[in-house]
Amino acid sequence: MTIHGQRIIVRGTVQGVGFRPWVYRLARAEGLTGSVANDGTGVTIDAYGAPPALERFLVRLRRDPPPAASIDALAAAPLAGDAPPEFVIDASVAPGARRVSIPPDLATCEACAFEVRDPTDRRYRYPFTNCTDCGPRFTIARDVPYDRPRTSMAAFRMCPACQREYDDPASRRFHAQPNACPACGPRLALLATDGSAIDTDDPVGAAARALGEGLIVGVKGIGGFHLACDAASEAAVARLRRRKQRDEKPFAVMVRSLGEARALAEVGTVEARLLSGPERPIVLVPRRAGAPVAESVAPGTPLLGLLLPYSPLHHLLLGDAGRPLVMTSGNVSDEPIVSRNDEARHRLRDLADLLLVHDRDIVSRADDSVARVIAGAPVLLRRARGYVPRPVPLARPVGRPVFAAGGLLKNTFCLAAGGEAWLGPHIGDLDDVETFDAYREAVDRFERFLGIVPEVVAYDLHPEYPSTRYALARPEARKVGVQHHHAHVASLLAERGWEGPVIAAAYDGTGLGHDGHAWGGEILVADAAAFERVATFRPILLAGGDQAIRQPWRQALALLVDAYEGPPPLDGLRLFDGVKPRDLIVVREMLATGLRTVPAHGVGRYFDAVGALVLGRSRATYEGQVALELNAAADERESGWYPFDLRAGTPVEIDLRRGVRALVDDLLAGLSPARLAARFHRTIGAATAAAIDAVTRDRGALPVGLTGGCFQNPLLVADILGRLGDRRVLLHREVPPGDGGLALGQAVVADRMTREWRMTNGE
Ligand code: ZN
Ligand code: ZN
Ligand code: FE
Repeated sequence: MTIHGQRIIVRGTVQGVGFRPWVYRLARAEGLTGSVANDGTGVTIDAYGAPPALERFLVRLRRDPPPAASIDALAAAPLAGDAPPEFVIDASVAPGARRVSIPPDLATCEACAFEVRDPTDRRYRYPFTNCTDCGPRFTIARDVPYDRPRTSMAAFRMCPACQREYDDPASRRFHAQPNACPACGPRLALLATDGSAIDTDDPVGAAARALGEGLIVGVKGIGGFHLACDAASEAAVARLRRRKQRDEKPFAVMVRSLGEARALAEVGTVEARLLSGPERPIVLVPRRAGAPVAESVAPGTPLLGLLLPYSPLHHLLLGDAGRPLVMTSGNVSDEPIVSRNDEARHRLRDLADLLLVHDRDIVSRADDSVARVIAGAPVLLRRARGYVPRPVPLARPVGRPVFAAGGLLKNTFCLAAGGEAWLGPHIGDLDDVETFDAYREAVDRFERFLGIVPEVVAYDLHPEYPSTRYALARPEARKVGVQHHHAHVASLLAERGWEGPVIAAAYDGTGLGHDGHAWGGEILVADAAAFERVATFRPILLAGGDQAIRQPWRQALALLVDAYEGPPPLDGLRLFDGVKPRDLIVVREMLATGLRTVPAHGVGRYFDAVGALVLGRSRATYEGQVALELNAAADERESGWYPFDLRAGTPVEIDLRRGVRALVDDLLAGLSPARLAARFHRTIGAATAAAIDAVTRDRGALPVGLTGGCFQNPLLVADILGRLGDRRVLLHREVPPGDGGLALGQAVVADRMTREWRMTNGE
């Protein structure tokens, strides 16, 4: 039989995910010879064998890659030369591979989860079991390239049995850098909060029993500590809230299996795939009526944030506890997640009753990622563990390496070089000293991991953001301030690989505009180089700045004062029953004189104001709460909406005053909050579609983009999509629509702007 040769080039997520050993086993099974090697951007396979075997090999390559791998492109071409005698893995690290060499953390694979449950296996109940298909990666890496001596596994010397697996190309653990077993790997310990060890030979079992008794256990995981408690116990969850100083923000719940997830919530096929994928994000799903989960886990929302176990420790703990567990990040309110044992003993001592720790260091913190299905596909709302540091490919490579500092809330930063951009892990709200330290640390580490020396620095126009101050203090000469909503649009374009221009709605809470006002209800015609602000929502006055955000009744009052010629009908509006008459007088005075007020265009502000009115909510305890609750309240079957006006001008003003009056009439007539909430969503949708139509008449049918935190709202997205018919609409998917995706846009805008300088300055 003739022997043919093929060179197969594979692109995608194919490094650090067990791809080469899998190719090796596949090639051997088909009797092929040749080699497989990592290269700068993927994997190259040289395969020799009989044509039918080569054909089958190619089919299986495409059809069943390892769980964490994903193939973007696969090209095969005939290869001349003599066939080598056997198939080998070329384990050397290719030059240029530095940037792709640290993969994201991968959830425990089926095979490892099985071994952990198997009493005859040497890894029975071993909480650190992993293989080339699964295990920690990014969070244990100290430096590049990614191999064991440069991870926190360096402290553990492999036993002969583990070393044999590591050296054997036929083993699932060939070059699995964190490979370990009970004889040689990390160990668990159960600690009292004073730091003293509790004597037990089964720390997981003991922790599970404590959870069953309603105690709170700090559990060291992959990207940081969780605080765990019985999700069905109202008393336990209430205690956790008190200790964590978190009043109402929902907690995530970890369940054992998809089956258990389905018992608690309505899990569609897209959600199921997302829940069980190797990234294992928290997935927001509608809770089932009567699901045995304490009300205080997620007050005021019909959604539950569920996630499946992603480390063997989770599998064991959930199995032993035999119940769903709240798993929330181990920190006080908005501080960074605790990741070190000494830190846990100090910072979690008043939060947890027990600590379940281990001796493998977490080098990089990574919170759980959060995703939700919108318009039929997943959207990442928080991008962290499992996704970081996976790069975003750029359709147009950047000219010089860029660092982009991100925003204030839900901060992530971004590094871009060549044809790729890397968003850092979700850091959180930067207005906290500890969070800011975590930010700087993460930036330093990322620059080192990626080997990027930035030449251009991008930042938000807001001078008070710690990220802006940090960017301005950096040594690089080229600094570019990027308008917040332009960055949102550019982020969407970069993610979707679209050059532009687009007609984009950039809707969020706030972002500084060129006129010094708070923007956030913007319709822009934009590409990465420039934007034009073609329409904006009529501003609402924020009385007392940030106070108006924590007390949305102030925004509601501003909305009403603006909407009515004379005094608004406050009597009969339940919202204002909860407001001190004195405060009401003071704020009315501020609104009348304009003193200590800021005009804010944000659609998020409209959601706050209307949410406060409709739900009677005078206070918010976390960012976006009232909008989330208004979205939760809406009855999607309600199809009506309120009138609005588009007022000519530059930009066009989207004026909802008539609609606000109609909504107040409905509210006073006793229409249900569910219908009012839906009508309000559809009003924003109708006004947006009308404004887009108006722009289209001038500029032609450009594609439409939806970006900004407001587009985490599935009803708003669905309504606008419905009105736009078969128009091409770009939506975020792997880059968050909110400020967690901002830095990507800042990076590409700064790149484009510095290119133009280069042209004008002849650089
Ligand atoms: Zn595995
Ligand atoms: Zn071992
Ligand atoms: Fe924003």
